[in-house]
Amino acid sequence: MAADLTFTSWSRPEAGHRWMVAEPVNGSGESHRYLVPGVGMAHRYGPASETGLFRHFAEIEPTEASVLGFADAYGSLGGTVAEPIAIPSGERSIVGAGERLRSWVSEIDAMRRMVNLWDLARSRDARLGDYVLWQEPGVRWVDADQRGRLQSSEWIATDKLYPDLLDRFPRGDVVGPALHLVQRQVNRKLVEHGVSARLLWDARYTRLGLHIVPLSLIGFLWFQFAQAIDGDKDYRRCPDCRKWFESTPHATRSDRVFCSPSCKASAHRKKIAEARRLYAGGVGIKEIARQLDSTPAKVQGWVNPSGRQSK
Ligand SMILES: [Zn+2]
Repeated sequence: MAADLTFTSWSRPEAGHRWMVAEPVNGSGESHRYLVPGVGMAHRYGPASETGLFRHFAEIEPTEASVLGFADAYGSLGGTVAEPIAIPSGERSIVGAGERLRSWVSEIDAMRRMVNLWDLARSRDARLGDYVLWQEPGVRWVDADQRGRLQSSEWIATDKLYPDLLDRFPRGDVVGPALHLVQRQVNRKLVEHGVSARLLWDARYTRLGLHIVPLSLIGFLWFQFAQAIDGDKDYRRCPDCRKWFESTPHATRSDRVFCSPSCKASAHRKKIAEARRLYAGGVGIKEIARQLDSTPAKVQGWVNPSGRQSK
C-alpha cells in the first residue's frame, strides 16, 4: 500500500507569532493568553526534512518564550490545540485561531513521556520500572510533569480491563506493558489530531494514490513519532546545531555525526577559530591538537596558513 507521508509543506508567518490576551469565540467570555500568528506573508517549508522534529518538540521548555521560539521556527501546532478566538481589530474584532500555553504544554508533556518510554523500552533500561508498576489488580503507568509532580497515571491492563492482555505479559515484565501504552497513546493522538487516509492525485493528475495525511503540525509530529516506532529508527543530536536527526546506518561517518553539510562546515570553521584563539593565547600546537581531537599538522595549517614553521 502506498501509505507514504504527503505532508510536504507547512507554513510559518514571516512576521512570527506573539502572545496576546483574547476571548474564545464560543467560550464563557473569560479571557486567556493566546499564541497568535503575525499577519502578512507566510514562509513555506517541508517539516519532513527535519527528521527528528518530534524529539525537538518533546524538549521544549513549558514557557511562553520557548513555545514562541518553536512556533516562529516551525509554525503553530493546529489540530485540537487551535481555538477560534476574537482578536481585537480597531473598534471591532475578527475571528482568528489562537493556541494556549497549557494546550502546548499538554502536547509537549505527552510527547516527552511517550518518547522517553519508547527509548527506555527499546534499550531495556532498568529505569522503566519507575514508570511501569505491577500492582493489584494489574499493571499501570505513572509519570510526573516537568516540575516533578505526579501527573499522569493509567492502568495498562487489569483483570477487568484487557484481561487477555494482562495474561500475555509475563508477571513483572515492564517492556511489553510500556510498548502497549505507547501504542495506545500514539493512536489516540493520531485520531485526536485527524491524521487520516486520503486518496490524492499525483503531480501530473494521472493517478490516484492512497496516502496518510496529517493536516496540522501537531498531527505531523505524532505521525513522525509513529513512523520512528514503525521503522525502529535511531536518532542523534547534531553537535553543531543541537537538533535531533535520524541517523541512517548507510551514511558516511561524518554524515552520521552532523545533521547536514552546512553544520559539518560550521563545526569545522569553529574548530579553526578555536585553534587560532588558543594559539594566540600561547597554547602549543600539540596541546591544541589534543584538545580539539585533531593532528598537529592540521592545527599548524590552521594557525599559520602561510606555512612558516613555528613552535
Ligand atoms: Zn546540525
